[in-house]
Amino acid sequence: MRCAALFLALLLVGPLTLSADEKDGRLDIYFIDVEGGAATLLVTPAGESILIDSGYPDNQGRDRDRILKVLKTDAGRTKLDHAVVSHWHLDHYGNHAALAALVPIGRFWDRGLPEMLSEDPGFGERAEKYRAAAQNQMNTLRAGDQFDLPSGKTPLTVRVLTASGEVVANDGPANPFAKEHQAQAEDTSDNAKSLSLLFLMGDFTFLTCGDLTWNTEAKLMVPNNPIGRVELFMVTHHGLEVSNNPVLVRAIEPRVAVMCNGPEKGCAARTWDTLRACDTLQAVYQLHRNVKLGENDQTPAEFIANTESTATCKGRFVKASVAADGKSYTVAIEGREPVRTYTTR
Ligand SMILES: [Zn+2]
Repeated sequence: MRCAALFLALLLVGPLTLSADEKDGRLDIYFIDVEGGAATLLVTPAGESILIDSGYPDNQGRDRDRILKVLKTDAGRTKLDHAVVSHWHLDHYGNHAALAALVPIGRFWDRGLPEMLSEDPGFGERAEKYRAAAQNQMNTLRAGDQFDLPSGKTPLTVRVLTASGEVVANDGPANPFAKEHQAQAEDTSDNAKSLSLLFLMGDFTFLTCGDLTWNTEAKLMVPNNPIGRVELFMVTHHGLEVSNNPVLVRAIEPRVAVMCNGPEKGCAARTWDTLRACDTLQAVYQLHRNVKLGENDQTPAEFIANTESTATCKGRFVKASVAADGKSYTVAIEGREPVRTYTTR
């Protein structure tokens, strides 16, 4: 009888959540499905939460609610310690203000809020909502900035590699792929000004470049490679072909890649050619099956988190979880086997 009562009590408590000091020392990275936008939640070994981008606005709060579900139910957090905007396109900062109305957000980080954006006539109004949500206390990130985050036994650092079109010094070993660069027409959109962030925990590295485009990727990576090798790479710009210059993607020798594509967005053939040329890659996850492409034009079905069209999509995430010492990490699709384990190089 007592056992039954205890079992019932546990059921009533609901999903187990962890407070900051109970966390297991791992770095968790959730690639949240926002239907071809981007929203990536990191929970550090110290229990701090960092949201990079927030998906599309509107759609009855679809992306906002998916982010809140992952934050609260899966990650067991009650607040966002940091909210980052990679650049000023709607599929990336669509819910910062909406989230701020529902959960406390500690600090806002971005590349600097421009007065206007030529490609978005509605930018001014939306930017003011963002500014109000941040109570005008935004922190501007610049290429070369570096932060040590509270961590467990292994230090956790984030480096800002690109911001507002500027890049870190082109130091490092010669990039063997540099000569492959073929400049494209100049991208005057905000994509070219995206933040690129490199997280380092021991030997583990995670690179996310927002929607950074071709020529800025080359500015960062030619002639030398200032990044080194990357374990986990978020495929840039949803997998679109105006990004993912081989001078970057091939030089970083990624082990696992995650593409935040949508059912009809991203997953370009040229990007796939580049990924397939990376012989270090052991897995490419897609948040979505691209419904316009055949099976051979995308990753195998077992690496695709969502196969439905947007109308019926369940919004499963892909989660990477890094061991406390940074020496290994797992990657899995929400609610699905297998959980694959990778040993950090
Ligand atoms: Zn985008």
